[in-house]
Amino acid sequence: MREICRDGRMPVGEINRTFSKLGNLWIPEVITFSGIKGLVFPIMSYKTIQQGEAAFVAAGIHGEEEFGSNAMAESLEVIKELGKIIPTILLPLLNPVGYATNWRYVGQREYSETGEGLSINDMEHNLPFGRIGSRARRKLASCREAYCCGEHLISLFHNYPPRITIDLHQDIKEEDGAYVYSHGKERENDKIASQLLEVIQRSGIPIKMSGATRWGEKIKKGFVEFVNDSSIDDLLAAEAIIHKGVRKRGPNARTALAFELPGKLDFRKGVNVYRNLIYGLYEILREERETKQ
Ligand SMILES: [Zn+2]
Repeated sequence: MREICRDGRMPVGEINRTFSKLGNLWIPEVITFSGIKGLVFPIMSYKTIQQGEAAFVAAGIHGEEEFGSNAMAESLEVIKELGKIIPTILLPLLNPVGYATNWRYVGQREYSETGEGLSINDMEHNLPFGRIGSRARRKLASCREAYCCGEHLISLFHNYPPRITIDLHQDIKEEDGAYVYSHGKERENDKIASQLLEVIQRSGIPIKMSGATRWGEKIKKGFVEFVNDSSIDDLLAAEAIIHKGVRKRGPNARTALAFELPGKLDFRKGVNVYRNLIYGLYEILREERETKQ
């Protein structure tokens, strides 16, 4: 099987090479390796040496959604600056095999819209049922990549408790506008979510004011109605997690956002919108730091 690089997206190797230039204030880590029929890639994570309440920036969970990973790679200089103002975790391409093959999920034998849908985003095995239960929503991880990703994130929570997390997606069926899943405490009142939606709007993409996502979740003024979707974002915002069968205090990120851009956007346009969003995040956190000082 060969990597396809249609629509201008960078090859996986080039994305990895780009982040290898982050410099000596950052530590690269391999979450695991992922492969299919002769294509094997590391799933990479990068953390600043500086520890503390952190910003997490993730992309490339769904293989056919290429804007986020390319925008992160093209924003290296801004990201380096971000790492100087707040401890930062980067997860620039979480499903490299899917990205290289333009397939949504990992663990598929062939492309399918409706197949098993195993995803590195499946965090049910680390999330509890209900407010006091000590049983996970699912006993075992859906796939090896999801297991390794959960373990990696949990290993970071002690030294890098997530304060704000951003996850870049695109809804390939959506034509009207952009919207956000807000998992943090403030849900649809999250100020940073509104500020970043404004950045998207200023970049020329309308915000979806009503209607529903392709999965049927209702949208109001750009915000998806709250759902426990057992995603990585859900895990980052969770008050409690399940780890190795034990209920523990969760990372409880104050702001945990998954953005969706309309999927049919031109490649360059989509990447530029997410570049603006990354810059917007940097500006918000820089201002926040300046007011604190
Ligand atoms: Zn997605």
